[in-house]
Amino acid sequence: MSATHRFDVVTIFPRMFDAIMDEGIVAKAAGNGILEIAVHDLRDHAPDKHRSTDDEAYGGGAGMVMLAEPVFRCLDHIRALPGREAGRPWVVEMSPQGRPFDQAAAVEFAGRDWTVILCGRYEGFDQRVRDAVVDEEISIGDFVVTGGELPAMMVIDAVSRMIDGVVGKRNSVEADSFYEGLLDYPHYTRPAEVRGAKVPEVLLSGHFEKIRRWRKEQSLLATLRKRPDLLRTAHLDDEARTILDALRKAEGDGEGANPLPRERK
Ligand code: SAM
Repeated sequence: MSATHRFDVVTIFPRMFDAIMDEGIVAKAAGNGILEIAVHDLRDHAPDKHRSTDDEAYGGGAGMVMLAEPVFRCLDHIRALPGREAGRPWVVEMSPQGRPFDQAAAVEFAGRDWTVILCGRYEGFDQRVRDAVVDEEISIGDFVVTGGELPAMMVIDAVSRMIDGVVGKRNSVEADSFYEGLLDYPHYTRPAEVRGAKVPEVLLSGHFEKIRRWRKEQSLLATLRKRPDLLRTAHLDDEARTILDALRKAEGDGEGANPLPRERK
């Protein structure tokens, strides 16, 4: 396989993926051959002339269920495509019942060279799809959306950013929230003052070491205030631990709860 990572997406709404295929970093990476993304219309693999991909549920109930056979046929087709007969893809079903997707999962997925993503609709797939071909169910959170397409795009985007060469500057990925188990520090750009609000002096100082330390403090402060739960598992070096002790004292003892939305000014 030429590209570093290949995604095959199975959906009944292939055009939704134009959103990431037409512009932005994922599209650029695909254009450069770092990523390969192929979107497969499940209807093309339906065995009947109506191109059916769903039917009523056995046992009754309002929602339709997605048929197993078109999925099996589509997977056979994907596996038989030129150059891929020998490999084995990691088959993911987007599902609210799945493992919650997070940054660690994004890194894990980026280490694989071939992922197939099944996007459900209605009540989801016939259970026999899950039983026979799904390696893992992945959820984007404890809420239900109408289809697996938006969740799949989020996964593809987050995984792509972890593949070398997709995001231009490696440093920008490494400073992002969650990369080291902490939230990102605040960012500022020109002008140095906007509507009376100034950029912190230290960022204008040109003093690399002070800036590095300020950013680390701010990253720890943001995490302490907004997501203290992350501090339990974050990898903190001695400097971070010292900073955190000081911040905890300054903030008043204990960990802040996830803050309430700010009142409108
Ligand atoms: N009846 C299913 C259940 O409760 O588990 C929900 C079906 S949902 C309306 C339709 C499709 O949207 C699912 O098959 C899945 O592909 C996708 N989906 C919905 N919520 C999701 C979530 N939180 N994470 C990932 N995929 C989701």
